[in-house]
Amino acid sequence: MGSNILYIEDNPDNMVLVKRALESRGYKLLQAMTGLEGVAAAQEEDVDLILLDINLPDIDGYEVARRIRSSAKHALAYVPIIAVTANALKGDAERALSAGCDVYMSKPINIRELWARVEAFVPSPHKPT
Ligand code: MN
Repeated sequence: MGSNILYIEDNPDNMVLVKRALESRGYKLLQAMTGLEGVAAAQEEDVDLILLDINLPDIDGYEVARRIRSSAKHALAYVPIIAVTANALKGDAERALSAGCDVYMSKPINIRELWARVEAFVPSPHKPT
């Protein structure tokens, strides 16, 4: 199993934080700053998990999740998607799940929670399994 993680996020501070946290565990981070870039990266790259911000400058994370799930690329029907939302109201979480996300976590990003959520789907390359 690979360890390529695509993070779709328009906030540079979060991008840097998550990049450092995941690379320290041996994952490779692919970065997309808009929803459309993220959908394109998911189509074109070999991606093992997607971290998805909901508030994006073009299409929102719900629409990104729907487009990824309905892609003609077969693997994207099953790739794990973790939604990352700033508005952790119950409705947002349910919307993320119904758009095709597997789980959600709320901002501000907690690094230990991030590691645990990611490792639940994709084992860390730095840890023997
Ligand atoms: Mn955002």
